[in-house]
Amino acid sequence: MGLEIAAAVRRCGSAMLAFIVGASLLATEAASADGTPAKELFGAKALPAAMAPSSYGFYAKGCLAGGVAIPTDGPTWQAMRLSRNRRWGHPEMIALVERFSQDAAEKIGWPGLLLGDISQPRGGPMTSGHASHQIGLDADIWLTPMPQRTLSYEERESISATSMLQKNKFLTVDPSIWTPTHARLIMMAASYPQVERVFVNPAIKKKLCDTWKGDRSALGKVRPIYGHDYHFHIRIKCPEGSVGCKGQARVPAGDGCDKSLAWWFTDTPWAKPKKKPEKPVKPKFAKLSDLPKACALVLDGPAPTSEQEATYGTAYRPATAVPAAATSIEAVIGAAAAAAPLENIPVPLPRPTLQ
Ligand SMILES: [Zn+2]
Repeated sequence: MGLEIAAAVRRCGSAMLAFIVGASLLATEAASADGTPAKELFGAKALPAAMAPSSYGFYAKGCLAGGVAIPTDGPTWQAMRLSRNRRWGHPEMIALVERFSQDAAEKIGWPGLLLGDISQPRGGPMTSGHASHQIGLDADIWLTPMPQRTLSYEERESISATSMLQKNKFLTVDPSIWTPTHARLIMMAASYPQVERVFVNPAIKKKLCDTWKGDRSALGKVRPIYGHDYHFHIRIKCPEGSVGCKGQARVPAGDGCDKSLAWWFTDTPWAKPKKKPEKPVKPKFAKLSDLPKACALVLDGPAPTSEQEATYGTAYRPATAVPAAATSIEAVIGAAAAAAPLENIPVPLPRPTLQ
């Protein structure tokens, strides 16, 4: 097809080219107007929009221009689940993750970060997993420390993070897994001025409330939410210059060790809904037109020539070139942790949103 078009252009010159470009633009408009869920449009983009970095919209409804990828490997981090291609973020987010990983290694002895999802190359809704992470300002960090060796591509796909919760006990941190270094890691994440919120499981927040003896001024940024017992979630504020970015209200004053936390330990969030809805509710997927107008331009924006061109810093390695494992992951994190299911606690219905 490409050759035929090239031949046609040679034959007919620029008038033909204009026609072809016009027709393909119409085709693009038609594709976005036909109600295709935005998650499919954004999920199909392998590379970012090569534009000035900007986050458009809200954490749970928006997109990202000028995204950069964090390298799969750095001295103090390894990115997980490489096949998802969610190592992309606003350059300020990626810079923070790198700095945090280095600070954690140097100041509290955390051997390195295992990185979960950040955003898709152009942000936007995802086909699986998250409501937020849409504007390149959210990042998931595993609560499992990085092993001393390079994990293989396959290991990064398959191994599970370690839950901090005690099995068969309601919302309780497992004292045999949780360490003071976990507490320091989360509090360090919350201490950066650009970090507005750190989401953790209510049991982890309670543990911090009960045991944190240091400066508690950042503790209010640590917010309880269901899940988040295998990883924590860092959210930074709208970067300067991102005029289309809709920020979130500052967290209330205080350490948050109050009734907003106590609520999670009542039956209310976990109670089964009394009545089932009579008709199954059709899931409503965001369409491109539901997102900020700039997101159509982001979706259609030019791509860089390669992933390398849009990778942050210099430590670039392609996602597939990770050396094979020398030892099994069980030897690194323990058989029980490697076999742990991804979720072992109930999810409240309706699901409270990240606040
Ligand atoms: Zn997250």
